[in-house]
Amino acid sequence: MAAAGGGTPRRKGRRAQPEAAPLGSLSQAGGQHAPGTGACEVCASPRLTRLHMTLADGTAVTFVSCHECEHRAWFPVDGDGTALSRDEVVRRSGRA
Ligand SMILES: [Zn+2]
Repeated sequence: MAAAGGGTPRRKGRRAQPEAAPLGSLSQAGGQHAPGTGACEVCASPRLTRLHMTLADGTAVTFVSCHECEHRAWFPVDGDGTALSRDEVVRRSGRA
């Protein structure tokens, strides 16, 4: 493929493989989680997996994965409870 970037591949039917591995690297910096990670922002379930991670640019984030709806998001630890967009996570992770 020689696509110049952009362009969302259209997927039919069920989703392709879920993202198994979150971007960034796991860090064990202690129990501090980012604001906004108390419940799923989509379905409000409190059943979340929370992982403290550091993206390639040094941004400390809490990665959350919802057990109920499989929503995934990255919240900056020093943020205001707003999740990073996927594009932003990719950019900060140095992946293009
Ligand atoms: Zn959810």
